[in-house]
Amino acid sequence: MSDLKEVSIGSTKIIALKDGELNLPKEVLLNLNDEIQKNLEDETNKDLTLSNINAFLIQQDGKNLLIDAGCRDLFGPTCGFILDELKKVNVQPNEVTDIFFTHLHPDHVGGAISKDGIPVFPNAAVKVLSKEIDFWNSDDFDDVDVNGKDFANLAKSVLKSYGEKVVSLGPDAEIIKNVHVVSLPGHTPGHAGFRVDDGSNTFMHLGDILHTPNLQLSDPNISLVFDVDTDQGLKTRKRLFDMVCNEKILCTGGHMLTPKFGYIEKSGLGYKFDG
Ligand SMILES: [Zn+2]
Repeated sequence: MSDLKEVSIGSTKIIALKDGELNLPKEVLLNLNDEIQKNLEDETNKDLTLSNINAFLIQQDGKNLLIDAGCRDLFGPTCGFILDELKKVNVQPNEVTDIFFTHLHPDHVGGAISKDGIPVFPNAAVKVLSKEIDFWNSDDFDDVDVNGKDFANLAKSVLKSYGEKVVSLGPDAEIIKNVHVVSLPGHTPGHAGFRVDDGSNTFMHLGDILHTPNLQLSDPNISLVFDVDTDQGLKTRKRLFDMVCNEKILCTGGHMLTPKFGYIEKSGLGYKFDG
């Protein structure tokens, strides 16, 4: 197993930035079969629910494109390290030229603003699918923990703090040269990954189609309560797993563990990630 944190696709460099890690409570998991239910009761299997919160830096032609911004202090002391990660690769926050949010959930946008709502990356153009902006800007949210008013208020604060720097994108728009949106509806309405194409080389970020790789690769039917539309999320997950598997596309995702980059391959009734 390699510990590769950086890959290049032609002249485009993709660097994984780990914002943090946490074990998700098993209550957020849906569609568990009896065997997995039982395994989850056993404390020694706690890696099954391990998740990482990842951001990525894409460097190309003088651009520093940040993919997602981590969660700041919203999920406790094991997360919120994006600025330390950027420092390790010698990039200052004011040198980030572009940000692409795969979607506007707190673990992807929290790190983009300070507690007082000040932009952390003041020079960045902030790119998001227009469908995602419209969804979170509505006033139609209940006072619930997941996908409710708190999530919407944070999304609205981030959009407001970047103001005119926000650029709304169509479902297959170019983010920067050679980097295109891949629309992945289900997790949220405007949820997306992206692909990098350079010559014959392709790389794909699968967004949040999976949160607990140790469970969802071997059993893609497992979903999480964070999906706005669980059925559509499930269809998108299976479609993308098949696609990157059949086309042998190097990939990563918003919650991949180590290794960050690898190939999804068929394994038994499910899949495995080979880094
Ligand atoms: Zn996420």
